[in-house]
Amino acid sequence: MTRSANDSIPQNITAIRQRIARAAERANRSSQEITLMAVTKTVEPARIKEAYNAGVRVFGENRVQEFAAKAAGLRTLHEAEWHLIGHLQSNKTSQAAELFSAVDSVDSIRLAQRLNAAAQALGKKLEALLEINIGAEGSKHGFSPDSPELRDLLKQSAEFTHLEIRGLMAIPPFSEDPEAARPYFRRLRRLRDDLAKASGLQLDTLSIGMSHDFEVAIEEGSTCVRIGTAIFGERIKK
Ligand SMILES: *Cc1c(COP(=O)(O)O)cnc(C)c1O
Repeated sequence: MTRSANDSIPQNITAIRQRIARAAERANRSSQEITLMAVTKTVEPARIKEAYNAGVRVFGENRVQEFAAKAAGLRTLHEAEWHLIGHLQSNKTSQAAELFSAVDSVDSIRLAQRLNAAAQALGKKLEALLEINIGAEGSKHGFSPDSPELRDLLKQSAEFTHLEIRGLMAIPPFSEDPEAARPYFRRLRRLRDDLAKASGLQLDTLSIGMSHDFEVAIEEGSTCVRIGTAIFGERIKK
């Protein structure tokens, strides 16, 4: 099996930071605008700590249950920020609101309402991204780009006193060729611009780009790249 990452987590992170800097430079952007999120699904706490010790502060987990089981082992990472990036079932909204500081995969008005209520009950503020099914794939969650529900949600956003909508997240259709993702990234950025204009919200976060296509995503305006494999190596399929 080919590994797209070295065995050394700190070395992988250094290499990714350099690639982020170069991609930002090509796009005349500051690499300060781009957050490196380490995606830690299936990764055990000891290895997550290595990423933290290498300076990573933002982490993404896909499943509430998995993170709940690991959270006790991660309490010493005081400055770590945990984002939920996978689909959230409505019966887990309270637990998610408790465990995470942000949900980057909000895909319905109902979920936004439930998260807002859960955050309010906990007396905390949650950040949120709206997930867009940018390739209109049946297998993926997220609002379709032309969804009226998406526009309605943004219109109602003032009612979400404990949920702050910061921007959009998307996963384009998979292709080995990173260039194939470019038109989808570009479409997402345009959608963001349109929605921001229509709603008056800033929506300044664009969470796009994973291990194999993050440089293209940065060239197209990404402000958060979500990297798993290139930091931790191939995930073992269970
Ligand atoms: C797993 C995952 C990633 C990271 O993917 P890699 O290809 O391993 O970098 C990013 N975003 C989401 C939503 C994921 O589920």
